[in-house]
Amino acid sequence: MNNPIPAIIFENIEKSFGSLKVLKGITGEIKRGEVVAVIGSSGCGKSTLLRCFNRLETINSGRLMVNGINLSQPTVNYNQLRQLRMQVGMVFQQFNLFPHLTVLENMTLAPRKVLGKTPKESTQLAGLYLEKVGLFDKASAYPEQLSGGQKQRVAIARSLCMNPQIMLFDEPTSALDPELVGEVLQVMQQLAAEGMTMAIVTHEMQFAKEVAHQVIFLDRGIVAEQGSAYEVLTNPQSDRLRTFLSRLK
Ligand code: ADP
Ligand code: MG
Repeated sequence: MNNPIPAIIFENIEKSFGSLKVLKGITGEIKRGEVVAVIGSSGCGKSTLLRCFNRLETINSGRLMVNGINLSQPTVNYNQLRQLRMQVGMVFQQFNLFPHLTVLENMTLAPRKVLGKTPKESTQLAGLYLEKVGLFDKASAYPEQLSGGQKQRVAIARSLCMNPQIMLFDEPTSALDPELVGEVLQVMQQLAAEGMTMAIVTHEMQFAKEVAHQVIFLDRGIVAEQGSAYEVLTNPQSDRLRTFLSRLK
């Protein structure tokens, strides 16, 4: 955490799809080493916000700085986009592993193609991260041979092979059977403990309370509540957050 500049700064960002205003002026920041849980009802803009952070979506207005890269402009040059994609890892609900590649091949592809690592280097790197998520013995398995929890752990390990400085998680456990959620949260908890900067869209409130530093509650495209995770989740100020939290129980 020796870099004092926040990992992500967003000021009054707006995003529409056609006439549908999805983000209506969102402001906040994510510090280095901070874990931020983004919560809110379906359709409130959580995924859109996360996707703006790695330029899968382009904001319409406002200011957005991610790891020192200015994403406020309508165009970002190729080099900046390349830097951004290397520095910001993303994990999706549906894992997005390549089905025709083994676990090892899934993990070594980007380090070889994007970082220019040799096959040996990238294999060593993959081994390291597979070990970390407890799946070293699955290196030659295909995704279809893995459980959902294992697939998601591979997806996280694959992201880590790029040595990202920020990790974005969009409902990483929402597609999993309940008994597989814990193993994925455990990997994320470990990452958080190691100081990774993380933005996590989640409905796992216990996890958010224990692991996140900050919570952002989005409601219909605005930040309705924001603050320390424990405060926001144990002492919600608005009826909307109270209702939202009670529905999850
Ligand atoms: P959440 O992740 O909170 O459920 P999203 O950010 O996915 O919400 O979506 C917010 C709103 O934006 C929804 O109404 C959704 O249908 C709409 N939306 C998201 N992506 C697109 C898109 N690419 N084109 C049109 N509408 C979209
Ligand atoms: Mg979503």
